[in-house]
Amino acid sequence: MSDHQQPQGETGTTEGAEFDAVIVGAGFAGMYMLHRLRERGFSARVIEAGEGVGGTWYWNRYPGARCDVESLEYQYSFSDDLQRNWNWTERYAQQPEILQYCNHVADKFDLRRDMQFDTRVTSAVYDETSDRWTIETDHGDRLSARFCIMAIGCLSAGTVPDFEGLESFQGDWYHTGAWPHEKVDFSGKRVAVIGTGSSAIQTIPVIAEEADQVTVFQRTPNFSVPAEQEPLTPEQIRDHKENFAQIKQAARETGFGILIDINEKSALEVSAEEREQEYESRWRTGGAGMLGAFSDILVDREANDTTVEFFHRKIHEAVEDPKVADLLSPTDHPAGTKRLCVDTGYYQAFNRDNVKLIDISNDPIGAITPTGLRTSAGDEYEFDSIIYATGFDAMTGALLRIDVRGREGTPLGEVWEAGPRTYLGLSVAGFPNLFTITGPGSPSVLSNMIVSIEQHVDWIAQCMVDLRERGLDTIEATLEAQDAWVEHVNESAEMTLWPQANSWYLGANIPGKPRVFMPYVGGVNVYAEKCAEVVANGYEGFVLGATAPMAATS
Ligand code: FAD
Ligand code: NAP
Repeated sequence: MSDHQQPQGETGTTEGAEFDAVIVGAGFAGMYMLHRLRERGFSARVIEAGEGVGGTWYWNRYPGARCDVESLEYQYSFSDDLQRNWNWTERYAQQPEILQYCNHVADKFDLRRDMQFDTRVTSAVYDETSDRWTIETDHGDRLSARFCIMAIGCLSAGTVPDFEGLESFQGDWYHTGAWPHEKVDFSGKRVAVIGTGSSAIQTIPVIAEEADQVTVFQRTPNFSVPAEQEPLTPEQIRDHKENFAQIKQAARETGFGILIDINEKSALEVSAEEREQEYESRWRTGGAGMLGAFSDILVDREANDTTVEFFHRKIHEAVEDPKVADLLSPTDHPAGTKRLCVDTGYYQAFNRDNVKLIDISNDPIGAITPTGLRTSAGDEYEFDSIIYATGFDAMTGALLRIDVRGREGTPLGEVWEAGPRTYLGLSVAGFPNLFTITGPGSPSVLSNMIVSIEQHVDWIAQCMVDLRERGLDTIEATLEAQDAWVEHVNESAEMTLWPQANSWYLGANIPGKPRVFMPYVGGVNVYAEKCAEVVANGYEGFVLGATAPMAATS
């Protein structure tokens, strides 16, 4: 089953070409998927909306953008040669360095020859007679593939709120997730930042260094830990390289896919003094390890309250004006139930004369005006630039912006009307041979994404090989297996504090989006075992099939 691959048309569009797989997206997921499939002898074409590889790191070029999983862990593990010949420079790599890494990977494995850039997939339709997918793009391409693999990203569909007068603004405006490629010069400018999530928290201190004034519009404050950013030493780099395989394996055996030390004690069983010491030491170390301070932070509200109390104190220590510190201290959700932010000088930025915090929790933005914005109560502000750090239609947005149709032409949007339903976050009943890398119902955004991406890509590639070896063409989740998995995902989430936050994990940031906790909280270790068991049990929960010979196209 290796379909004939036709060359790309001279116009740059692809008409009638046939592939074993079309992969949508050229971020970490799409790049590795292509590499694995080529290695296994499959033909594949990647279609990517951007003009280059890197996905998240291609689009999110805002000042201060960097990873919040440490660089040494936020990298591929599939090639020892790759890791040996790449040196990260800082504890948390900046966006340009991660993008450079992505380009290095694309060069090293010669990925671009099977990629088409600057092209957006608009529809993917399954044909039940041929058991093939037809994929169409905004450039008029029409590709046919046995498998359609969505590597479109959980955080790639940026959202700007539908403010009245949005287009009337006469200054410059930007969304953090679609940042210009050239440097934006904010010197001498009055800049508004709307939002206080991870993107805003990273960018505010950096923009404040350059701009004349920065005004931050906050609807809800977030918890943020210091990154304690530092250059990596030659010894750290050498040690990591030498122990790479063991470190990666150890990371896969954790719940989050990262090597944080999780204290087995409850926050409630220790003395106040011990608790304080534990939090303080993790705060000083910096990074997401804060949430591992005690075993019950994410499952017990009372335990979590101790974390919240510690954060509030730290915010008050960092911010000189107690009123501003109060506003920056989250009270609406348990710590860690929205993505924990990792910052460099965020709270301290509010001590600067040129940074102002506006609380819009009770007086939302009413309209964007030609010169700035107006709150609902009528307060007017004037700016030269507006930065929308307003996030993403996460986990389902990019997929549902494509017209995906399965059996009987059923649109995915219809099947997911009440929220996403998948089997293992990888597959959807009624949509044979469609795979969703890090899809809803898998650990994805609750983990080191590269660990989760590699696990999914390896699973999909293995599945395609298994089908080929058995002379089969199709794989489709059963509705029963999907229903049982969705129930398990929901029950697992309910056992934690995560659903208590109005987060994008729940779709709460998008007006009208069904409120369903989308990622699987069971952990990457438990999840990977489940995926392996499914295979060991002959693809339990899936129906495998062969295309009738008359309908075969290859
Ligand atoms: P993406 O990198 O999002 O790539 C998807 C690609 O698909 C995009 O290039 C997009 O253009 C393309 N695409 C989408 N729809 C279409 C279409 N219809 N047609 C054609 N192309 C399409 N995760 C971590 O684990 N650690 C971190 O430190 C971390 N930091 C992050 C920082 C930021 C600013 C953001 C936004 C996310 C971060 N994440 C982090 C999550 C991050 O998205 C993943 O780590 C990872 O990069 C996702 O890779 P991906 O290939 O799955 O998706
Ligand atoms: P986000 O976390 O969803 O934050 C969006 C912000 O915009 C929130 O503060 C939100 O307020 C605000 N907002 C949205 N609509 C608004 C409106 N109409 N009026 C006023 N405010 C509004 O988005 P993000 O910061 O881009 O981060 C998304 C995810 O990407 C992160 O959680 C993380 O997983 C990843 N990321 C990681 C890093 C990193 O450190 N490596 C950096 C950036 C992003 P409410 O909270 O009130 O909704």
